[in-house]
Amino acid sequence: MTDVKIGLETHVQLDTETKLFCGCPNEEADEPNTHVCETCLGHPGSKPRLNEEVVNQAVKASEALDCEVNEDVFFSRKTYFYPDMSKNYQITQYEIPVGEDGEKQIKVGDEKKEVGIKRIHIEEDPAKMKHVGGNVSDSDYSKVDYNRAGTPLIEIVTDPDFRSPKEARAYLQQLAQMMQYLGLYRPESDFSIKTDANVSIEGGERVEVKNITGTKDIEKALNYEISRQKQWKKRGREVEQHTRSFNQGTGATEAMREKETEEDYGYIFDPDLTRQELDEELRTRIKESLPELPQEKFERFKEEYGLKDKLVESLITEASLAEDFEELAEEFNSSLVASWMSGDLKKVLNYNELTYSESGLDFESIQYMLDLISEEKISDRNAEMLLREVVGEERRPEEIVEEEDLLKADESEIDSFVEAAIDENRDAVEDFESGEEEAINFLVGQVMQKSQGKADPKTAREKILEVLED
Ligand code: ZN
Ligand code: MN
Repeated sequence: MTDVKIGLETHVQLDTETKLFCGCPNEEADEPNTHVCETCLGHPGSKPRLNEEVVNQAVKASEALDCEVNEDVFFSRKTYFYPDMSKNYQITQYEIPVGEDGEKQIKVGDEKKEVGIKRIHIEEDPAKMKHVGGNVSDSDYSKVDYNRAGTPLIEIVTDPDFRSPKEARAYLQQLAQMMQYLGLYRPESDFSIKTDANVSIEGGERVEVKNITGTKDIEKALNYEISRQKQWKKRGREVEQHTRSFNQGTGATEAMREKETEEDYGYIFDPDLTRQELDEELRTRIKESLPELPQEKFERFKEEYGLKDKLVESLITEASLAEDFEELAEEFNSSLVASWMSGDLKKVLNYNELTYSESGLDFESIQYMLDLISEEKISDRNAEMLLREVVGEERRPEEIVEEEDLLKADESEIDSFVEAAIDENRDAVEDFESGEEEAINFLVGQVMQKSQGKADPKTAREKILEVLED
């Protein structure tokens, strides 16, 4: 690949009760401009009050990413004009962020890589714009919804350490997973992750690509931007520093504006907010309360359960899945639980486009199903069908099993299916007796059909052979 340098700035919206600087509920509302007050609307004379919970969460993220946490932090005003920011400035941290100089180890395929974390700071989200009858440049007019104004964000900025879009995607996915473990992000919630990427090739100027939402589009956006820059250079032109926007619909990046420098924003200290002292007691308390993070869990699961890498990776994608696995592994054979969870269960969840926590599957239901499987009371086919119905419907697995008669047939029932299959298919029996061994497959099929999946093919075959060879 060409000489590529990519740095990422990821904004994580925090799911706190109230907004960053006022008491408004920090959640989506049915009507626009209802979760608002003088402060988040930027009325003259209104004063911001800092939500302490956000500071704690920023310290938590900083500790998890091995940053130096600054003892004394403050807030600054980043001045710009745009209707999404009615004060004409965004309150952010510029000079001294909460965390600096951290690192995150990531896995890209089978390789490990260290990514430098330059800084982690707190800032407020601006309002949401709605461009009526078009986009920002050609719509008739625009509306502003201030419900989102003042939603707390932490922004995580990396060094320009990525050499390919693939590395950037691996980082973003693993960062999102870490934020989920820390309780700062839930992929199924309305709170999202948004990333801006700085991209340069062959030592040229860097272009900033904004508005990459979630973790899925990053590779697409970067691939597009890199080939765009290459084409540009091929035609003998220089790439100039500017800002572009990623268009999710077309998968392209579009020119937005000439790049401003940080100085253009005229940062000034915000006198309405007091300095925050992040003392050692707070930092230590938060550091000690960090949960086991994905990387550590990965190593421990491999060691403790002797499972393959792929299996462990699948089990630790979600913290709640990993927790339930550990509890179930005490009761059942751990490799059975692991292969069921990363196999059948993941398949059904993916099919329904649900995460484990979204699926609402309760622990008792899983216990019940694993019991049927490990005691061989249910055929593989019916076990899978049961799981599909449990995920897709309101009914309890016990009810489904009862109503649809899903458990394996008992001996005498199978005997009667075997007898019937033999009586009804004399041709096949004669073929078998005259040496055509495959004829037995047909009879096994008949037994399976009669039992509606409750017999298993191995037992059916044995029983047919027993009768025929008598
Ligand atoms: Zn408010
Ligand atoms: Mn930002």
